[in-house]
Amino acid sequence: MRVMDRLRARRAPAVVVLWCSVLALTLAAQSRPPVDPKATRDADLVELVTLDPSIELDIRYAGTNNFLGKPVYPEARAFLQRPAAEALVAAHRDLARHGYGLLIHDGYRPWAITKLFWDMTSGYQREFVADPSQGSKHNRGCAVDLTMYDRALGTAVEMPSGYDEMTRRAYPEYPGGPPEARARRDLLRRVMERHGFTVEPNEWWHFNYKDWEQYPIVDIPFSAIR
Ligand SMILES: [Zn+2]
Repeated sequence: MRVMDRLRARRAPAVVVLWCSVLALTLAAQSRPPVDPKATRDADLVELVTLDPSIELDIRYAGTNNFLGKPVYPEARAFLQRPAAEALVAAHRDLARHGYGLLIHDGYRPWAITKLFWDMTSGYQREFVADPSQGSKHNRGCAVDLTMYDRALGTAVEMPSGYDEMTRRAYPEYPGGPPEARARRDLLRRVMERHGFTVEPNEWWHFNYKDWEQYPIVDIPFSAIR
């Protein structure tokens, strides 16, 4: 027995060291964003309200009113790559003719947050979150989650579903719900498309900017963006 104990005692540290190395490598592999060789432009993230302060913010991930029920952003701020931000401002000004303005829920999202969403979800919910090994268009600063506010009332409009509602009502083609809500959803989509955005097939609130492939998947904290 004593011989076996001594053998175990000698062997254990080697096993522990090996296990720790494997774990460290695994964690290192998961802690960095994937590199897309086709993304040739440098990040040039712009804070949306600096371009037009009449864009309203309701950054759900900075508070508790989100699908995780806890804050994941330290600051309620929204950024996009400069051309996408300028196109968004143009859409916002177009909507003014209809009595609406843009209300932003999310823009650029650091890659670590996308990984957190993936780790915190399972099953059907994963249809609505991005795989961190692929990254998200939010991580490229070229996707924005938004709705509209009524300029006369100063309140968010009713849409066919709530933000981040993981049901069929979230689909841009969903045919149910109040007709006025569908009409507003479709107006938002038309105006955004006019300015170079396309809607996500299962989320009426999520729009991708046309040049998203040119920008890298990054993990820059909000506090590091000037
Ligand atoms: Zn989104």
